[in-house]
Amino acid sequence: MARFEIPQGWTAQAYRFALDPTPAQVRALASHAGAARFAHNHMLALVKAVMDQRAAERSYGLTEAELTPVLGWSLPALRKVWNQRKDWCAPWWGENSKEAYNTGLDGLARGLDAWSSSRCGRRAGRPVGFPRFKTARAPRSVRFSTGVIRIEGDRRHVSLPRLGAVRTHESTRKLARRIEAGTARILSATVRCDSAGRWYCALQTLVEAKARPAHAPRSQYPVVGVDVGVKADSLLVVATAGGVEVARIPAPKSLSAAQSRLRALQRRAARQHGPYDLATKTKQMPSKRWRATAARIGRTHAHAAAVRRDVLHKATTALAQQHEVVVVETLNAAGMRAAGGAHKRGLNRALADAALAEIRTMLSYKSRWYGCHLVEADRYFPSSKTCTACGRRKPNLTLADRVFDCDHCGMHIDRDLGAAINLARLGVPTHIGEQSPAGSGPVPGRGATQETEPAPAGDAVGEEASTPHHYQVDQTGTASPQGEAA
Ligand SMILES: [Zn+2]
Repeated sequence: MARFEIPQGWTAQAYRFALDPTPAQVRALASHAGAARFAHNHMLALVKAVMDQRAAERSYGLTEAELTPVLGWSLPALRKVWNQRKDWCAPWWGENSKEAYNTGLDGLARGLDAWSSSRCGRRAGRPVGFPRFKTARAPRSVRFSTGVIRIEGDRRHVSLPRLGAVRTHESTRKLARRIEAGTARILSATVRCDSAGRWYCALQTLVEAKARPAHAPRSQYPVVGVDVGVKADSLLVVATAGGVEVARIPAPKSLSAAQSRLRALQRRAARQHGPYDLATKTKQMPSKRWRATAARIGRTHAHAAAVRRDVLHKATTALAQQHEVVVVETLNAAGMRAAGGAHKRGLNRALADAALAEIRTMLSYKSRWYGCHLVEADRYFPSSKTCTACGRRKPNLTLADRVFDCDHCGMHIDRDLGAAINLARLGVPTHIGEQSPAGSGPVPGRGATQETEPAPAGDAVGEEASTPHHYQVDQTGTASPQGEAA
């Protein structure tokens, strides 16, 4: 598949706006999303039928030439077959934009490609299963890539093919200003419905010369580590290698309130007549009250996610604009899957993992925009288990221990702050490497990987990484190359 090339000096960026569609537009959006699902399921059934037919014919001893011809799995091939069949299998197809059917077929083509490349080992990561039929509960979305997609001059409407001008919940001025100035271009629009039933429009755009704003303040601390907390009092702790706590961002009250409301709602749903009967282990028709609770759970989830995203966006923008090197933990994906996964380690930890994943995504593109270096700690880096004073490890630290008490030197420090300090120390060689190679950084950059491209002088990072790491050698003199994830 030919990939779209982003011109030099331009950046791809999505702008997402909540929509306030009219009831007629809601019906049209639902119809488009349903059409996408229909095209996906119809063609998936056909793909399966052809595969089964060929397998059966082979078992009868037919030669390869006599078999039913293969059905192409690429998007153009699927689209061609769909267009031949749509008049009889979906005579209503004219009611929706052709982009709706294209959305479903594109998803199917990607799913089939992922499955086949995963099966023959061309794809990294976990094995991918064969595409499944989309149920009515599947997320509803449509992507428009052709036709009239524009932001209206009143900055409160987005025009989409077939749907016309859809009112946005908030002003579109941030994108509108760029478009008027000629520094942004809309490529496509994806309209999606979230678990709370709200429709969103994400506009994929090309933005020119995204840079750090001139008025953005610079922190006096160029290198910082960021620890993502488990507890409500510190969602994020930012600290320097020298032990200065630069910022401590608490989870907003509305987030903890939404989370306790969620727990209460989930307990209520468990008492109600749900879709699954635990006594007989069979599916059943859920009650109206259960459905009402489920809808509230969906809305509360969406609200909590929005609150958290808002805090994280503000924090990551500040981090990427104010500091030169930012060090974050990497998520221990293997640890999350092992032995029951995240839910076994509690809701708090699961939320912290989700926050960490979001922060890394945000920081990785914001650090590119604003020219900051993002350093990712090795996923086995024991950030919260290492003493910030003497460097000795405390392996039996549990998540409940909020304070780190060193058995060797008597260091007494807040756990999250200690973790942030240890992370910041990983970033020090990166900073020295670009500023003054003769810097006397006492701490090696073990376990750090560069996310953003370092400056040419940043070769020093590689050298630093291979130096002996005295502060991680314990009493008996045995270096422990890999500890448990903190
Ligand atoms: Zn110590």
